[in-house]
Amino acid sequence: MNDMKPTIIKNIPFDIRPEQLYPNLKIQTGSRYADQLDKLLESALDIASPKAVYTLSTVEHKDDSTLIIDGIHMKSRVMQVNLRHCRRVFPFVATCGIELEEWSQSIEDTLKSFWADTINMLALAAALEAFKAHIDERFEPGTTSMMNPGSLEDWPLSEQHKIFSLLGNACELINVRLTENTLMIPLKSISGLEFESGEKFYNCQLCPREKCLLRRSSYDEHLYAEKYQPHSNHRET
Ligand code: SF4
Repeated sequence: MNDMKPTIIKNIPFDIRPEQLYPNLKIQTGSRYADQLDKLLESALDIASPKAVYTLSTVEHKDDSTLIIDGIHMKSRVMQVNLRHCRRVFPFVATCGIELEEWSQSIEDTLKSFWADTINMLALAAALEAFKAHIDERFEPGTTSMMNPGSLEDWPLSEQHKIFSLLGNACELINVRLTENTLMIPLKSISGLEFESGEKFYNCQLCPREKCLLRRSSYDEHLYAEKYQPHSNHRET
């Protein structure tokens, strides 16, 4: 166990301009929709408060598909291989913030609700960026990668409560909670482990889902067999 208290990151800058949203939302500059979006974004920026919390945890390797992180058993073959040279890891939760969540839930118009969803997603991205900048500055980990419960079958969403356990009650302090179905509220929140990786790893490399707008890397159908299959000759990274 380590005795580092979780670090809470608030006051994260979030200052996007409407023109940044127009292309993604297929809105023409100067149109009626552009005017409506400008007003919606203005009301969002008035209250936006993305946040993140993280801690530093120690890693022990137990067997081919189990790690012990600060005393908590994590079952994931992919994680076991990805973290095989790691002795420390950064469990985290990042969120768009309860303020934007409640604001977006109050919007009844379907189109504006979709726009609000996009704004909340960008606020979450700002929170993630702030978290990564924080650990870069404080711990200088070099190249890092991220794994998130639920992104791959190998590490199911049911393990999400373990990330919350590692962070203690700090998630409450940024107003993020887990429902009985292990969904996070605010909905635009993400939990996971950030780890020193040498070369970049993306969950997407092992995910065959087609037409995913959030894909960050192409699917490598041979990667699991080559690198993660137990007792295979691993592709070294
Ligand atoms: S392809 Fe999409 S669903 Fe699959 S891991 Fe990447 S972001 Fe997640």
